[in-house]
Amino acid sequence: MGRAYWKDLPNDPEKHPQFIKKIIEQSDSNLVKDIRQHEYQRNLAFRSEDYPKSKGIHDLKSKIAAAIQQRGDIADNPCGCCEQGIGPFVGCIHIQGMQYGRCGNCIYGGKACSNADDGREEIYKLNLNSSRTRTGPVSGASHHPSPSSTVLEEQASGEAEEQASETDNADSYLVLGKFVLPRPPPELKNRAEKWEPHLAKLNARNMEDLRDRPIRDLDKSFLEFQVRESEIFQSVFQQSPSPELLVKPSGS
Ligand SMILES: [Zn+2]
Ligand SMILES: [Zn+2]
Repeated sequence: MGRAYWKDLPNDPEKHPQFIKKIIEQSDSNLVKDIRQHEYQRNLAFRSEDYPKSKGIHDLKSKIAAAIQQRGDIADNPCGCCEQGIGPFVGCIHIQGMQYGRCGNCIYGGKACSNADDGREEIYKLNLNSSRTRTGPVSGASHHPSPSSTVLEEQASGEAEEQASETDNADSYLVLGKFVLPRPPPELKNRAEKWEPHLAKLNARNMEDLRDRPIRDLDKSFLEFQVRESEIFQSVFQQSPSPELLVKPSGS
C-alpha cells in the first residue's frame, strides 16, 4: 500500500473522509501520533464540498486539526469561531489536554479557542511538545516540555510531510535543494521511498528557526569578525595589523 498524498485526493467527495483518514494514519509526526492514541470516532465532515480540494490537509497544523476532529469530544457548546462558521469542519471538537484543548477549527485556522482548557483561551499557537514516551491512551494535560530540538524536528517534519506530497508525483526525485534526479528504477524504488521523507525533512528545514545558528549572514558576520580580529591584534601587538596578516574571505 502506497502512501496517501494530498495531491491524490479523489474527486468524489464521498471518498474524502476515508482518504483523509489514511493520511492521518500515515503521518510520521509525533504530535499526530499522540492524537492517534485516542480512538477513531468519526469521519471528517466539511462545511463545504470544495473545502478539501481548495485548502488541503497536508501540513502539520491541518493534520493535527483533522486528527482532533476525528478522535475528539464534541463540545457542549460550539466555540466562538465554530459558532460563526469559521473553519473547514462541521462540529466543534476538541480533546482536553491536547493542543490546549482547542477545537479542530481553531487549530486549523491558527485561532484562539473559547473552548480551550481552563486558562488557555488566549493561546492560538500549536503546542509542539510531543509526548513520545507515553504508551497508553492520553488523558489529562500532562505535557512535558521537550528539548527545543524536538520542536524543530517536529516543525520540520510537518513541513516535510507537506513537501513530500508536493514532490512525490513528478518523474523526478528531489534529493536535496536543487539536486534532482530521475525517478529510480523499480528495484531501487523502495529504498528511495524509504529515504525520501528524511530528505524532504532536511529540505524543509527552516533555517530561521535555528536560533543558535552562529552565522546568519555571512557578509555581516565577516565584518564583525574583521573588527574583532583587528582589535585583538591591536591589543596584543600594540599596533595596527598589516592587511596581509588578516583573514580574507575564501575565494578572494
Ligand atoms: Zn470550535
Ligand atoms: Zn475553537
